[in-house]
Amino acid sequence: MRKDQYIIKNAYRKPIVPIKLIHSKHIVKLDGTISIDKNTGEISYSGFTFLNPKVCEQVLCNYSRLKEDSWGNFENDTWYMINDFENLVDKALKKYPLYMRIVEYKIDGMPNNDIQMALQQEFGIKHSIEYISSLWRNKIPKLIAETAEDDWLTYHYTFEEKGTFKRCSRCGKIKLAHNKYFSKNKTSKDNFYSICKQCRNAKSKKN
Ligand SMILES: [Zn+2]
Repeated sequence: MRKDQYIIKNAYRKPIVPIKLIHSKHIVKLDGTISIDKNTGEISYSGFTFLNPKVCEQVLCNYSRLKEDSWGNFENDTWYMINDFENLVDKALKKYPLYMRIVEYKIDGMPNNDIQMALQQEFGIKHSIEYISSLWRNKIPKLIAETAEDDWLTYHYTFEEKGTFKRCSRCGKIKLAHNKYFSKNKTSKDNFYSICKQCRNAKSKKN
């Protein structure tokens, strides 16, 4: 199954196999819906979707159990959900080796004190327990959700609606003409700046 197909599949399908999450009494249904405002390009979602950082946090916190329960069970949606989630995590944290390490340690059930020491040994920086915990609870789930949103946008504007892709005049990368990647500019033909947000932000940071 291709990456991000799962998320998309969510959007259409009926409520499915409930997953009992280990640390909570909530039953999560794979019932996410994602929609986009045709005029503003604004995305909204509800239910179980990786676009929601809270969902990503829940899956991370219950990863071992979910993985164990669904292992090799190809008829179970959880199996595909976990596979897609893993791909998403790899992609989201590719540029953040420290974050990836935290995920690995946390999933192994390592206590925060030990994580702190292990990180110090490998990366040479002593991060506070609070910082490590906030990465795990906030920053990392947010990064994963951000990546899920990128994937969904690309999918949506490729298969569901014909989107426009444009090349940033500074970095040369081809990106979707969407306000996530280019700021709006009313004086421009396509209503977007020719320089992508990332480049614009990098420039304003420098100044
Ligand atoms: Zn750029």
